[in-house]
Amino acid sequence: MNPLFASMPTTIFEVMSQFARDHDAVNLGQGFPDDPGPQDVREKAAEASVAGYNQYPSMMGTPELRQAIAAHYRHWQGLDLDWASEVMVTSGATEALAGAILACVSPGDEVVLFEPMYDAYLPLVKLAGGVPKFVTLQPPHFRLTREALEAAFSPRTKAVLFNNPLNPTATVFPEEDLKLLAEFCVRHDAVAICDEVWEHVVFDGHRHVPLMAMPGMRERTVKIGSAGKIFSLTGWKVGFVMAAPALLKVLAKSHQFLTFTTPPNLQAAVAYGLAKPDAYFATMREGFARSRDRLAAGLQALGFAVLPSRGTYFLNVDIAPLGEADDVAFSKRLVAEHGVATIPVSAFYATGSVRNVVRFCFAKHDATLDRALERLEKAMRRAA
Ligand code: PMP
Ligand code: GLN
Repeated sequence: MNPLFASMPTTIFEVMSQFARDHDAVNLGQGFPDDPGPQDVREKAAEASVAGYNQYPSMMGTPELRQAIAAHYRHWQGLDLDWASEVMVTSGATEALAGAILACVSPGDEVVLFEPMYDAYLPLVKLAGGVPKFVTLQPPHFRLTREALEAAFSPRTKAVLFNNPLNPTATVFPEEDLKLLAEFCVRHDAVAICDEVWEHVVFDGHRHVPLMAMPGMRERTVKIGSAGKIFSLTGWKVGFVMAAPALLKVLAKSHQFLTFTTPPNLQAAVAYGLAKPDAYFATMREGFARSRDRLAAGLQALGFAVLPSRGTYFLNVDIAPLGEADDVAFSKRLVAEHGVATIPVSAFYATGSVRNVVRFCFAKHDATLDRALERLEKAMRRAA
């Protein structure tokens, strides 16, 4: 068997969700909302299944969806994308990431990765034969610095893999950081694979700025999105890739032998959803921000050191002030003894440099959050 997979642990999301099932825990680990998602978008998918065409759609995605994606990003992010040569539909952002990494990286190429990083990145880079170069982002602000980028980039840098807003830290990078990263990509002639699946889930008036819009990045950025996050329908697995024609042509070649295409009923529903009025997105954000505030206030009242959350479904706590030195042991104890599942953030660090941060998902009904907080209160009382 391929040693990369044979020696690989099961993803932390599956591990913690299984613990949650085993211990009948409140699952604030894996990121998925309690809410069933927008009814009209789900009805469109149902309608398209019953009345629509259900055979293989075009490998690049349906023209209807690709046009809707281009229009959506023009409206929301001021990007001027040609739907026919610069937009492709994939089966989730995960497939888009795999395809982009396999298409860009050859054995021996260096790839700059920012840890904490989404758990799929490093195995995919290794699968392509890439050599990871880590930039370690430090709590509580997880900012980019010139010194860290100087140390990570080299003449062998082929690509960077950047996630903004950042899962798990809930950071929305300021434009200053994006400009700095763009400067390094241009100087080293590197491709930026930019995972922007959380672009719509931003709070407190923050606006998502795509890396692709930074000076010199239009021709060298692969922008990745996910309808699963935009519509709070995480099981749908409809992703998008946007890149200049020369890049997209090669990305299409890797896509054709990963999944080839994506269910047409879901593509029809996503095309409909992307044109929803601005008010839908504002209401979605407000709802998640309210849940974030409810969980943050509850955790703070219990004595947790809550880190800032500017986007995503996630809120992190620093467990060091509680005298806890091991996030994995802490998370396991919390789920097994107190019935609350979380994600230990060290799972997102390859270098093992941060072990004191635990991630909670707040995309839940108030009753779910309150049930978790009641259990945490008992846990904290027991520990005191
Ligand atoms: N990238 C990041 C940063 C994510 O958080 C996720 C899923 N939550 C994905 C990619 C995968 O998205 P999809 O479900 O569309 O494959
Ligand atoms: N992205 C989700 C999270 O961060 C989980 C995705 C998955 O389970 N693979 O929780």
